[in-house]
Amino acid sequence: MGRNEPEALKAALLPSLRIDGPRLWRSLMELAQIGATAKGGVRRLALTDLDRAGRDRVVGWCREAGLALRIDRVGNIFARRAGGDPLRAAVAAGSHVDTQPSGGRFDGAFGVLAALEVMRTLNDHAIETAAPLELAIWTNEEGTRFTPVMMGSGAWAGVYGVDPIHAQRDIDGKSVGEELARIGYAGDAPMGGTDGRGGFDAYFEAHIEQGPVLEARGLPIGVVAGALGQKWYDVIIEGMDAHAGPTPMELRHDAALAAARVIEAVNRIALSEAPHGRGTVGFLQVGPNSRNVIPGHAQLSVDFRHPAAEGLARMDAALKTACDEIAQRGAVKIEARLLVAFAPCVFDAECVGLVRAAAERLGLPHMDIVSGAGHDAVHVAGVSPAAMIFVPCKDGISHNEIEDALPEHITAGGNVLLHAMLARAL
Ligand SMILES: [Zn+2]
Repeated sequence: MGRNEPEALKAALLPSLRIDGPRLWRSLMELAQIGATAKGGVRRLALTDLDRAGRDRVVGWCREAGLALRIDRVGNIFARRAGGDPLRAAVAAGSHVDTQPSGGRFDGAFGVLAALEVMRTLNDHAIETAAPLELAIWTNEEGTRFTPVMMGSGAWAGVYGVDPIHAQRDIDGKSVGEELARIGYAGDAPMGGTDGRGGFDAYFEAHIEQGPVLEARGLPIGVVAGALGQKWYDVIIEGMDAHAGPTPMELRHDAALAAARVIEAVNRIALSEAPHGRGTVGFLQVGPNSRNVIPGHAQLSVDFRHPAAEGLARMDAALKTACDEIAQRGAVKIEARLLVAFAPCVFDAECVGLVRAAAERLGLPHMDIVSGAGHDAVHVAGVSPAAMIFVPCKDGISHNEIEDALPEHITAGGNVLLHAMLARAL
């Protein structure tokens, strides 16, 4: 083969291929203008006018990059770059463009725009992959305005039916179906993950870590091996309201005291499952909430997370035991109601290996990490091989207007995405 043969050119070019980091950063900052807040964050709730404006901007960029667009029935957007072999399933990447009410510039947007930057880079160098590439933008990942969280990817993966998703309403009574139509994103493409044809060959999602581990270790790349399973509960405690003065300590049915003991037990249970067990009480109400009344009622939330199903089961059993003991000791009734359960997710070993190998080839220090948060990739992984790439965020802070990341880390994550996708798609 001569030196100028396309194959030889490709082989020489690919190892040194890099994304345009400043272009990716500019796109992130431009998208962040849509719904920008005074404190430097972003407020772009799912299926609002601002979400439409954000979608329109990214869709415009996809058109400029020559990508073919389709929109499915829950408003997920797919932008395809043709491959040499149209029979092959797509190698996909993406995330979401909706944000929390006081969200940041990177959560979701990074994964979407890093995938776009991969397409732009390949266009710049006229590189054709064998498998088609696809950019996915999932509807309503944040679950702030409409439940459930990770709505679009869950519907795509067949976890939720389309009709019940369309019927979900926000606090003003507006439904997902109505709002999708209103903003012009009620598509008719089949729900890819569920029709037996449209699953991906692989799906990669780049995301900020949303935790402090990578920054603390000084590492630019996290190779995400999976995501913690979750169990969420409402714990309801019934005691008896009584006067704070005349009621002796040993004759009380103090629901707030029992709640305090449950909080302590949740913390102890999570610590006994170190290093990856997590236990949080983030919501607590006592009634009647009066200074001189022993509270007869308390309600609190429990959020347990663990990387293994057996670990979650142990935490569940320990919570029930603790509630029984605390109820008996405090002469109150305690009921722990399970609200939500997500099984732990283990990402596809081959895709995880491609992410790790890409980081190594690029000379980027990395570690294996388990995601403490849910992501669209967790639903996608139920249907197609998937993996994630984490980059550090400042002080581990996310779901906050001060969320921040360094340009060099954003570039590093984009390059790992590029090389992981190429390795799969060539
Ligand atoms: Zn996100």
